[in-house]
Amino acid sequence: MVTQNPTRPATSSAIGAAERVLEVKNLFVSYVTPRGQVKAVNGVSFFLRAGERMGLVGESGSGKTTTALSLLRLLQPPAEIQGGQVLLDGVDLLRLSEAEMRRARFAEIALIPQGAMNSLNPMMKVGEQLRDTIRAHESSAGSKEIDSRIEKTLNSVDLGPAVMDAYPHELSGGMKQRVCIAMGILLSPKVIIADEPTSALDVVVQRQVMETFGRVQQEIGAAVILVGHDMGLMAQFVDRVGVMYAGKLVEVGPVRDIFKDPLHPYTQALIGSLPTLQSKELFRGLSGLTPSLLSPPPGCMFHPRCPKAMAHCSVEIPELVEIKPERWVSCLLYEGSQL
Ligand code: SF4
Repeated sequence: MVTQNPTRPATSSAIGAAERVLEVKNLFVSYVTPRGQVKAVNGVSFFLRAGERMGLVGESGSGKTTTALSLLRLLQPPAEIQGGQVLLDGVDLLRLSEAEMRRARFAEIALIPQGAMNSLNPMMKVGEQLRDTIRAHESSAGSKEIDSRIEKTLNSVDLGPAVMDAYPHELSGGMKQRVCIAMGILLSPKVIIADEPTSALDVVVQRQVMETFGRVQQEIGAAVILVGHDMGLMAQFVDRVGVMYAGKLVEVGPVRDIFKDPLHPYTQALIGSLPTLQSKELFRGLSGLTPSLLSPPPGCMFHPRCPKAMAHCSVEIPELVEIKPERWVSCLLYEGSQL
């Protein structure tokens, strides 16, 4: 069921007027395989305003996690960033040296990963892992000062100081995810990327963890990219949504508008497949499979599955264009409607 977050308006005018803290321009990422290049991210462009929460949604393999991890330059071979810019306050992260990028991670742009158990070191106490994060960026910070900052940060995510002496396996799933949030906000970054941060938690714990995350994010004024496929969570948490399909952004807009009036046929299918309290019909899935990114279809990537496909959809590649204020869509149905 989809509900709106009662504690936060979906798009505040303050955020609407805020400056862009992150601009991603024409990002290309491929997985280089013996069978050829898999274009996982295919010319993706979007921006994020200071303090804003943006969701990136799409099916598995749509390129949302690859996009998110490439912003932090955390992709491993055979993934390769092949072009584009990732401008954080005007500085292109893709042009930084490895050492500069290491300094930028956590301090400027942080990740709250999927699956806390895999990202925390099972052999190290939580306190040590948090201390290492601070020491890696602020070599002159004293031990007392570091511990007091860690305690304050743990407190802000509703964890007591005793957690510092615990190993990850001694904590519940929700507590581990809170530790990951603490690590993500420890150095007050401008941008936090949260990759399906609560997918392993049950819905009650998920809601509590997301409420904590939303509160601390607002306290430090960071902007957030929330990656996921849970449209209900998106409706509750984000201001704007970007919908990805086969490595491309096909629609971007305020979350309320996307739910009320989806423009792209793929977004329409996604929204149409969500259960509501009123719906008594059978769930409507989307027929067909996502295309192979090794040999993608010509024209619009969605044309083999699109119920509204026209003859030229299999030939022309639609661009992502703004067709009304704050609404971007990549579909030939809106040809000539660009603002
Ligand atoms: Fe459907 Fe054509 Fe629009 Fe693609 S461009 S989504 S095939 S109508």
